[in-house]
Amino acid sequence: MTIVVTGGAGFIGSNFVIEWLKHCDEPVINIDKLTYAGNLGNLASLKGDPRHIFVRADIADSSLISGLLSEHTPRAILNFAAESHVDRSIHGPDDFIDTNVVGTFRLLETARAYWGTSSEPQRSGFRFLHVSTDEVYGSLSQGAAPFSEMSRYEPNSPYSASKAASDHLVRAYHHTYGLPVLTTNCSNNYGPHHFPEKLIPLCIHNALSGKPLPIYGDGQQIRDWLYVKDHCSAIRRVVDDGLIGETYNIGGWNEMTNLEVVKTLCGVLDELRPREDGISYAERIIFVKDRPGHDRRYAIDASKIESELGWRPAETFETGLRKTVQWFLNNQAWVKDVTSGAYRAWVEKQYNGG
Ligand code: NAD
Repeated sequence: MTIVVTGGAGFIGSNFVIEWLKHCDEPVINIDKLTYAGNLGNLASLKGDPRHIFVRADIADSSLISGLLSEHTPRAILNFAAESHVDRSIHGPDDFIDTNVVGTFRLLETARAYWGTSSEPQRSGFRFLHVSTDEVYGSLSQGAAPFSEMSRYEPNSPYSASKAASDHLVRAYHHTYGLPVLTTNCSNNYGPHHFPEKLIPLCIHNALSGKPLPIYGDGQQIRDWLYVKDHCSAIRRVVDDGLIGETYNIGGWNEMTNLEVVKTLCGVLDELRPREDGISYAERIIFVKDRPGHDRRYAIDASKIESELGWRPAETFETGLRKTVQWFLNNQAWVKDVTSGAYRAWVEKQYNGG
């Protein structure tokens, strides 16, 4: 059999495809639009692997995707494709509505046509897994219990609102049409291939470039952190063993303030790449104007996936962070390609003859 992954050139999607092919031989059709966040350099280790077929396409392109589904007859579609950066959603929400809401809707329609109808499913065993975020639940007050699958949706940014809308569409396609769906809501990921606009890779890059390490507001915003490969193992578990129609929260039980995250990161950098002057990188932490509507706390209760599917993260925050820093130190050419924009020039040349 085959699976379809959308958004597989992005941060989590590329890690997922690589990990999938490490764990099984089932080929992957990787559909990605290659927006600024999509980078074929993330998939370089799969070059020449016949089990990986990359197709540049928009998830909203129903006719192209229908053709791919008929040709490859996948047993599952895993939808990672999204606009994913909260700050960008504040400055320009349009793409978030186009991809996260309309794109997911189009993909659901395409999947529904492929699957058949509940009275006459043409593809028994087929599954549509939608990858989502804990940000749909909104902000949690100090002392409140972590978000469970029963928590109310209260999204606060255009990003989280667009993801919430997509989650609701996925749910509705199950309840209305019987489409065999699964949804996962995960906390903040970090790890290899993380685009250096997000907190951890930005601070690693700035630290190594002699620049300040910017933290929003007072740095007391709390997030739960999960190493990206642990997110990938959770999704593998859900796509194979999850109950149709169910939602699974995925998290690492690692609640930390942003300031704690950056200080821990500086400690790892001090050890793995000490500064010549012997001063800690933490000396470069600065506080910058807070993001509008910045949620104060997210925390995930991952007990359902742990007890029902037996999933556990393999990494603690410290071990995952050490692996992440080491990856960035070993892959400075990747960082240079991304920060200089060179990876885009390659995409333009490859696809647009530019
Ligand atoms: P990313 O921005 O790094 O990657 C998104 C990928 O989707 C890119 O390769 C991009 O080119 C592609 N894409 C965008 N629009 C597309 C479209 N219309 N058609 C096809 N491809 C398109 O994002 P990420 O951090 O890897 O997140 C992946 C998924 O996981 C998203 O759905 C996100 O909401 C969710 N998620 C992310 C986190 C996190 O911490 N990064 C946490 C929980 C859930």
